[in-house]
Amino acid sequence: MSLVTLKELLAEPLEVHSAVGGFVTFDYASTEAIIKAAEHTGGKAIIMIPWGLAAGQNKPEEYLRNTLSMIRNSSAPITLHLDHGASFEECMRAIHSGFSSVMYDGSSLPMEENIANTKKVVEAAHACGVSVEGEIGHVGGAEAGALVEGGLTADSSLYTTVEEAVSFAEATGVDALAVAVGTVHGIVRGTPKLDLERLSAIRAAVKIPLVLHGGSGLTDEAFQSAVKHGINKINYFTEMSLATSAAVREFVRHCGEQPVHMMDITNHAYHKLEQLIEKQIRLFRLEEKLQQNLE
Ligand SMILES: [Zn+2]
Repeated sequence: MSLVTLKELLAEPLEVHSAVGGFVTFDYASTEAIIKAAEHTGGKAIIMIPWGLAAGQNKPEEYLRNTLSMIRNSSAPITLHLDHGASFEECMRAIHSGFSSVMYDGSSLPMEENIANTKKVVEAAHACGVSVEGEIGHVGGAEAGALVEGGLTADSSLYTTVEEAVSFAEATGVDALAVAVGTVHGIVRGTPKLDLERLSAIRAAVKIPLVLHGGSGLTDEAFQSAVKHGINKINYFTEMSLATSAAVREFVRHCGEQPVHMMDITNHAYHKLEQLIEKQIRLFRLEEKLQQNLE
């Protein structure tokens, strides 16, 4: 099994209501938690790294080499995906380092420029057998002021339109398309409202897998309706990070003044992380649940 491209990982027919989680790894232990969760659920996963996170390691090349080796030794199919590639150069560096998929994010640029840049990345990446995700419409960041109406609603002027999605997908040849339908990146108070009608219309018009960014503030039900209405990849990070730090806090508080081994804290925290990822992998595979309900 081991390392596969995003295109291979999302090869299921689009009519099947199922999505694969894109989980951001922040260290070796979280990579291990994602791999274990994929193996235990008999599922698959996308391990995502923003370039800054890799470049910020003490020895970036060694870090990526070791991460790839962990993926190659896994019994589950896993994609190593560059999250939010900021430029052609960054995407090429990621491909050179062994990523099997890259996202080029030109969503803050004018559409023509986004198309031209994405197309260039697609041509180079496909020549190397690497998949590409693009974004049209703009999923902003909660911290960057992408929320309106008291911080609960994304700015709908940035949402993806059906026409944009169709022409972007056709013009660029991307393997997966991130759309803006109501979520935002980062820590969100409350549950963002998804524009499911818009999502369904995009799904009906675009013939490639669709990606939901900024998923962490959503309820289980909201995730399932996103999958039901056509999402195939769900990016998930903030909740992973918050759950792991909450587990550390809970463990330390429980220990009180007693001396405690560091490994007991990290084992506890990463076990909680693995459980959370397993839950999300199962949740995103809506088709399985629908089949079980029919039996
Ligand atoms: Zn994102």
